Amino acid sequence: MSVPTLSRTVQRDPGHEFGFELRACRWAELAWPPATAASDDTVTVIARQLGTKRRRWDTIVLECDPEALSRRARFGPDRLDSDLLHIVRNAPAEWTYYRDALPYPGYPWRYVREAIHRADDRGSIETRKSGNRIEIRRKWAYPDWLERIVAIENKPDLDASAARALGAQLEYDVAMGLADEVWVATRTTGDTVEPALFEDLPVEAGILTLEPESLTADVVWYPRTLAVDEPGTRILERPEGGARDASAARFEYVDPETKADTRLAIAERAYERGWRSFVDTMRPDCRHFQLRARGATQALPYCAATDRCQTAAECGGSCPHFEPEPPTWRTRGWPIEGGPGKRLQQLLAERRRRRRPGL
Ligand code: SF4
Repeated sequence: MSVPTLSRTVQRDPGHEFGFELRACRWAELAWPPATAASDDTVTVIARQLGTKRRRWDTIVLECDPEALSRRARFGPDRLDSDLLHIVRNAPAEWTYYRDALPYPGYPWRYVREAIHRADDRGSIETRKSGNRIEIRRKWAYPDWLERIVAIENKPDLDASAARALGAQLEYDVAMGLADEVWVATRTTGDTVEPALFEDLPVEAGILTLEPESLTADVVWYPRTLAVDEPGTRILERPEGGARDASAARFEYVDPETKADTRLAIAERAYERGWRSFVDTMRPDCRHFQLRARGATQALPYCAATDRCQTAAECGGSCPHFEPEPPTWRTRGWPIEGGPGKRLQQLLAERRRRRRPGL
């Protein structure tokens, strides 16, 4: 994520957007959907930094059928990739030769056999040999747990240049129609009319203003529901030369079946990762790594060496301030249980798990 050039405020530290994003995730976990009148019996799964090869969203809200989400837990906390989904969604109730049971996937059957063994290893289906044929049988039907995908872009300081970059990304989302809704979350300014409304964003995108300290949000513009069941238009290239550039945009169509498969693959990744997985790519084993309480219910990463919230990109192997935890911090179970950093990871993993009913 780029750090915007700020017109209203001074340049912020790099952890500013990252901290805002984590606050937005926590707010969504507590308060989604934002419409006050909504009577909603869906449950949500929140994740961050997921999407496709061409487009990654900051925050993702999965609106799920509660009962089906509990049944999804039978397949374990790890995601089912597209090969495994092909198996579990088509596995029959009775023992059947796998080539008779599964639709031809468009790639060689030996890869299907490999996926069958993986599905068996993780307890998602049953297999047996009949002569030299592999037969499969489902243990549970894969539930239809995903109802809607909502994508939120977080821009705490939405000035004109940030809005221009974001506008192009949101136009891509609207044309593709992969998410049911797209939103921009920006920091509350307290102005009579929020400045975000004056920026050149697609009208299909919703705008909400978030106060990260109090974790309260207001909707200043409601989004349109996008046509996820219709063919999408993937914008491959657009004229970049300003008003005098007469070159044509390049695009391609994406059929609804491909979109549906992509949506489910994204949802499975979101189910596995949640949004607290940020710690997985950071260095909680560094002596400067801390989690600091923000509000009553959230812990944000904090670097004691730089005295601020650090980004996941900064907090990696190349950080010049990295220092390993002193061995004396470690528990008696070291090296099996690890030190305080390991315990912070376990704490976040436990919180992530608690948000998945049925696990
Ligand atoms: S010093 Fe570097 S590695 Fe250590 S917590 Fe801070 S940012 Fe992370």
